[in-house]
Amino acid sequence: MSIKTIFLDRDGVINNEVNYLHKICDFEFIEGVFDALLYFQRLGYKTIIITNQSGISRGYYTENDYQILNRWMLGKFNERGVKILDTFHCPHGPKSTCECRKPKPGMLKKAQVRHNIDMTKSWMIGDKEVDVQAANAAGIHNTILVRSGHLIDETNSSAKFFLDSIQQSIQVINF
Ligand SMILES: [Zn+2]
Repeated sequence: MSIKTIFLDRDGVINNEVNYLHKICDFEFIEGVFDALLYFQRLGYKTIIITNQSGISRGYYTENDYQILNRWMLGKFNERGVKILDTFHCPHGPKSTCECRKPKPGMLKKAQVRHNIDMTKSWMIGDKEVDVQAANAAGIHNTILVRSGHLIDETNSSAKFFLDSIQQSIQVINF
């Protein structure tokens, strides 16, 4: 049995965008994120986080800093009844030839194999065009860009939907 998944970018989607965020004290959940994810759970979706973390390769923070923040975030989700199936991060920089840094689909494809995900029934919610590009390259065509993170260029985007934040995504993902 394959599963359907909501893939989420982290910074700008789950939490307010802060450049090279790595401290718990700088992490602020975006309004409505818990309710939206609980709603998707009720619709039978799993949730997976897919995030570029080039601050690690740039030396702004360490892999361990990332893991500490990630565990804290997952704990907060857990307290609110939100289950996150998995998280994937790319620690590499823009000049790397890795297969994981978005817009490459490496993290999504790894998730697909690990969890037997039906990409045609899955969604990507991001705040950058690279999120949409990675999704499309991995066979996900249900894509949402939110305006709660980086400035997006809606006229030059291949995203299917544009919304103010993840809070509104419950109006679009309703099946
Ligand atoms: Zn990478």
